[in-house]
Amino acid sequence: MPRIYLSPPDISTRDHAAVDAVLTSNWVAPVGPDLEAFESAVAELAERQYAVALNSGTAALHLALQLLNVQPGDSVICPTLTFAASANPICYCGADPIFVDSEPRTWNMDPVLLELELGERAASGELPKAVIVVHLYGQCADMDPILAVCERYGIPVVEDAAEALGASYKGRPAGGMGAFSFFSFNGNKIITTSGGGMLLADKGSWIDRARFLATQAREPVAHYEHRELGYNYRLSNVLAGLGLSQLDDLSRRIAAKRAHFEAYRAALGELPGVRFMPIEDPDAANYWLTCMTIDPVEGGSSRDAVIAALEAEDVEARPLWKPLHMQPVFQDCASIGGECAEGLFATGLCLPSGSALSVADRSKVIEGVRACFVTQ
Ligand SMILES: *Cc1c(COP(=O)(O)O)cnc(C)c1O
Repeated sequence: MPRIYLSPPDISTRDHAAVDAVLTSNWVAPVGPDLEAFESAVAELAERQYAVALNSGTAALHLALQLLNVQPGDSVICPTLTFAASANPICYCGADPIFVDSEPRTWNMDPVLLELELGERAASGELPKAVIVVHLYGQCADMDPILAVCERYGIPVVEDAAEALGASYKGRPAGGMGAFSFFSFNGNKIITTSGGGMLLADKGSWIDRARFLATQAREPVAHYEHRELGYNYRLSNVLAGLGLSQLDDLSRRIAAKRAHFEAYRAALGELPGVRFMPIEDPDAANYWLTCMTIDPVEGGSSRDAVIAALEAEDVEARPLWKPLHMQPVFQDCASIGGECAEGLFATGLCLPSGSALSVADRSKVIEGVRACFVTQ
C-alpha cells in the first residue's frame, strides 16, 4: 500500500502533454508565450489588471515589499498563524515583523486586534509600512474591516493568497483585494508548477518594475547594463505550460477537496472534542487542506495520538502551522495577542486532502482517526 500524503501534486496525462508541447516548441530559453498566457489566465481569475509569474510565492512577496519601499527600520504586520514564508521577506528587506493573533471565526488575522494595534501605533507615530494578510488553508480573512482600517491609516495591504487560489470573499476573488497579492504554485498547493508563484496588482508600473527586478534588473540595452541590484526570480516558460494545464483543472480540484472536507466532517464531526475549521461561506473556500482540532479534555483522544496512529498506517497528517511568534528565528519580534493561534497549534491537525485522494484512501484515514477515540 503506497503512503497517503497530505497534499501531493496531482499530475494528469494532459499535464504531460502540455509540458511535452512546450519542449517541442523550444520555448525553453526561459521566457516565451506560455508565460504570458499563464499570467493573463491567473490575472483574469483574480480579477487583476497585471501579473508577473515568478519562481516562488516567497519571491513574489519579497518584490511586493520592495515595491512598497520596505526598508531597514520599518515594521510590517503579518498574522502569526501562517507558514514562515509569509514573514521571511520582511526580514530580507531588513524590516521588523509584528505578529498579530488569529480570530477563532476564520483562524485568520483578527481585524479587531489589528485595528487596536494600528490605533496605538498611529498615536506614537510608528505605523507599519505594510500589512500582510494571509488566507489560511483556502479561506479568506475577513477583508472588509481589514481593508477599511488599513485605508484609514493609508497602509497598503499585501494579500498572501498562496493557499487560496480559486477562493473568494463576498464575491471578490482571493488575490483581487489588496494593493498587491500573490499565489504560490509550490508542489503542495492546489495547483503546481513544481515550484512557482505569481505577483498581481492593478498598477502596471508596479508589475513592470517587479518583472525588471526579477530579471536581474537588466537595463533595456544590448550590452549587459545594471544600475540597481536585481534578482533571478522569473518562472520558466516550461513550468508556465504546466501551470496553464493545471489551472484548467482548478474547479475539479476545489470540488474534490470540498468533498473530502465534507466527508471527513460527516464521519468525524460528532466525535467528542472534535471541531472542524469553521467555514463562513461553504461556496467561498477552496478547501486546500481539511483541518480540525481535538480538545484532549473533552475528547477520548488527542491531536498527537491521532497523528501517531495515522503515521503507523503510513498516512501523513500534520499539526497546523506553528505560530511565528513561537518560532526561534522570530523570538525577538513584536507579537500582539497569540492565545488563539497557540490554542489552534496545540490541538489542530491537517488531514490528507489531495485532489487525487481516492474514496478508499479517505475511508482508511477516517477509520484511522475513529479508532483513536475510545467512546464510539
Ligand atoms: C506556500 C506558502 C507561501 C510560499 O510560497 P512558495 O511558493 O513556497 O515560496 C507563502 N505563504 C503561505 C501562506 C504559503 O502557504
